[in-house]
Amino acid sequence: MESTHHTHPLIVIGAGAAGLMTAIHAGRGGVQGVLALDGSRAIGIKILVAGGGRCNVTHHSVHERDFAGSTPASIRRVLNRFTATHCVQFFADLGVELKQEDTGKLFPVTDDAHTVLDALLRAARQAGVQLRHPQRVQNVQVLPSGEFQIHSDGTVLRADRVVLATGGRSLPKSGSDGAGLAIATSLGHSLTPHMIPSLVPLLLHEGHWLRSLSGVSAPVELKIVSGQGKRLHSCRGAMLCTHFGISGPVTLDISRHWTLHQAQDASSRLQANFLPDMTEESVDRWLLAGTGRTVLSRLRESFPDRLAKGLLAEAAIDADATTQGIDRTLRRELVRTLTALELPVVGDRGFIHAEATAGGVPLKEIHLETMESRVHRGLYVVGEILDVDGRIGGFNFQWAWSSGFVAGTAVAKRVAESRA
Ligand SMILES: Cc1cc2nc3c(=O)[nH]c(=O)nc-3n(C[C@H](O)[C@H](O)[C@H](O)COP(=O)(O)OP(=O)(O)OC[C@H]3O[C@@H](n4cnc5c(N)ncnc54)[C@H](O)[C@@H]3O)c2cc1C
Repeated sequence: MESTHHTHPLIVIGAGAAGLMTAIHAGRGGVQGVLALDGSRAIGIKILVAGGGRCNVTHHSVHERDFAGSTPASIRRVLNRFTATHCVQFFADLGVELKQEDTGKLFPVTDDAHTVLDALLRAARQAGVQLRHPQRVQNVQVLPSGEFQIHSDGTVLRADRVVLATGGRSLPKSGSDGAGLAIATSLGHSLTPHMIPSLVPLLLHEGHWLRSLSGVSAPVELKIVSGQGKRLHSCRGAMLCTHFGISGPVTLDISRHWTLHQAQDASSRLQANFLPDMTEESVDRWLLAGTGRTVLSRLRESFPDRLAKGLLAEAAIDADATTQGIDRTLRRELVRTLTALELPVVGDRGFIHAEATAGGVPLKEIHLETMESRVHRGLYVVGEILDVDGRIGGFNFQWAWSSGFVAGTAVAKRVAESRA
């Protein structure tokens, strides 16, 4: 068992994106002997699986409105300290050039997430960071001296400062299984009342016709409407039909909002608008303008064949009918199907398939200029364990880089001041 006599200046618990970023900046700032512990056998699993193995490092335009959780103003304060521009420069300095895609997402030019992880690990080594894994932390105690005592796989370590960078609960096999959340509460932090999967596919009830269109994708607007029909939230983007329900960027983006609205109002509903740039009247006119053509051929102009047939069947319209051949009532039903198709969601695919976690340690419990806990001096909290989650596009990593930068530089400053 390691002696407890040695007190590390800084122990970072969790060596994912946020933990590595913190450790690198603490080390670069002059903190000697930074120790990073990670419970996982393989380091940086989420970086490697991100963006389909290409790692969507950040987005060309990052704004607090791209995030949910805590408050926009508190999220902005952290993002402003280490922006997307800083991120591009940081990786360029590590030899990782990023390229921007049409969607605004930034990926390494190699299209290989290993480039990102290797560069971070190299930077950590160069900054003098010692990385130990697999070394899982079971609990953290605060000693009367103010030092931290860390119990980890049979060893007891001491540190002047501790960074909690253990992630949320998404993709638990990566090592982020929520154990860090229990450590945070044991140290006196609270958690949001909700702790739910974010960026997660949604399940439609068995037998729903969209489930038979697996692989079909279409640009839509998804909207959450209250039982009284009031629009509560909406997102636009590609929706992908799958054998269990719906996925694709727009589904992932709306999923956490859907779950939270459902919890508050079980009568709220999810609807898909397949023609979001048109009003109901203009859809009706568009249908009628297809003179002499079948409705199916009209719909095929805008939708894949299987989806066009499914939409017609849903509206109980014969695919061979001409656009003028269907009466007003049926046409109105088709317009409703095209612009406000009810999606009977019965749940989501859970943390195993989620890309992020909504909920966590509230930012109001953190000093945002340092990421230091308001509960314990010397305790810092960064990354996805906090109550901040971004939409699809590189925003979750940007949060990890920004919060890690703020914590790492703050620790370095504090250590330098204590030496002076
Ligand atoms: C499939 C998938 C794809 C994604 N793609 C993208 C993308 O392209 N772009 C984007 O911006 N975001 C993406 N994300 C989200 C992004 O990966 C996370 O938001 C980000 O990794 C969070 O960083 P973190 O350092 O806070 O936590 P994590 O990356 O989860 O790291 C936490 C680390 O802490 C360790 N740990 C946990 N508990 C303990 C303990 N008790 N003791 C020791 N170690 C512990 C874990 O092993 C883990 O290594 C994706 C997520 C998933 C699941």
